[in-house]
Amino acid sequence: MTRVFNFSAGPAALPESVLQTAAAEMLDWHGSGMSVMEMSHRGKEFISIADEAQALLRELLAVPAHYKVLFMQGGALAENAIVPMNMLRGKTAADYIDTGEWSKKSIKEAQKYCTVNVAASAKAGGYTSIPPRAEWALNPDAAYVHICSNETIGGVEYHFTPDVGSVPLVADMSSDILSRPIDVSRYGLIYGGAQKNIGPAGLTIVIVRDDLIGQALPATPSAFDYKTVADNDSMFNTPPTYAIYIAGLVFQWIKAQGGLAAMATHNAAKAALLYDFLDTTSFYSCPVARDCRSLMNVPFRLKDEKLDEAFLKGAKERGMVQLKGHRSVGGMRASIYNAMPLEGVKTLVAFMKEFEAQHG
Ligand SMILES: *Cc1c(COP(=O)(O)O)cnc(C)c1O
Repeated sequence: MTRVFNFSAGPAALPESVLQTAAAEMLDWHGSGMSVMEMSHRGKEFISIADEAQALLRELLAVPAHYKVLFMQGGALAENAIVPMNMLRGKTAADYIDTGEWSKKSIKEAQKYCTVNVAASAKAGGYTSIPPRAEWALNPDAAYVHICSNETIGGVEYHFTPDVGSVPLVADMSSDILSRPIDVSRYGLIYGGAQKNIGPAGLTIVIVRDDLIGQALPATPSAFDYKTVADNDSMFNTPPTYAIYIAGLVFQWIKAQGGLAAMATHNAAKAALLYDFLDTTSFYSCPVARDCRSLMNVPFRLKDEKLDEAFLKGAKERGMVQLKGHRSVGGMRASIYNAMPLEGVKTLVAFMKEFEAQHG
């Protein structure tokens, strides 16, 4: 068996030890005689798995007691609708910050439910930076302010938590949740699909402040009303049980590595290796402003795009896959989430140098 270095943006690489544990427990979880996939979600075995996953996530992120942690389905794109349905709370408008492909999708969906004020946009600069907080034109009557903390496609990440006063801050953290410590109390709501930095697709994480739930629009589907989900411990309907189990194993793995502080150090070291190299060469280039560069998704271009195919082929021959950039931006993208070892980035940089020496 050979495992590749998988630079996929999502679904993405998982820690190998997590996959090994899952394999070892596949047929018989802890003497239950069953696979986790075969368990009743209301049985004591699965309830213990879900409770432990939630407790670990709370511990890793230091989630305050007055926040609910919900395990939902539908991904971040469903949340683009579920957020306004739940968070408008009698108001009719919300502020959105436009920083790229994922914010654009959030904005478009929210427009079905409310008046969207795009309070700041990075569009004019080709989505290569985060508009400075001082330039945001916020509406004091907005129900919430929405940001995408890491634009997975453009490779643009917030390296600050914006102060938006008493209006709740809502963040799509699909692709940088658990990559570093955050202060959850600065947010009204955090959401994200699991398949980037947490576990398998199918699980959506929502962390929401207690006082913001219970006022969903009347037409909100019950399964998407945060109050219903919270009152039923995320088991109003059958939750994605196996995805929750794997997420729990990933949380254990993060804790064993030293928690989010250790993840932040590990991720900063990997990103620095790649960006420092990109800054020394004109053969490759990264379009993103230095202070907004993503530690999770590193987009870069070759000087001559006619070499792209040869680059991808050479990378594949060396065991590195999924480096092709998103179709909307072209070039390359290396996604280096928590589970990507430093060795993977070292191998990539070594290959980039070798390729430049041959073709530069
Ligand atoms: C991947 C991603 C999404 C889409 O998530 P789905 O689970 O496919 O709905 C949304 N936002 C961000 C920031 C993402 O990285």
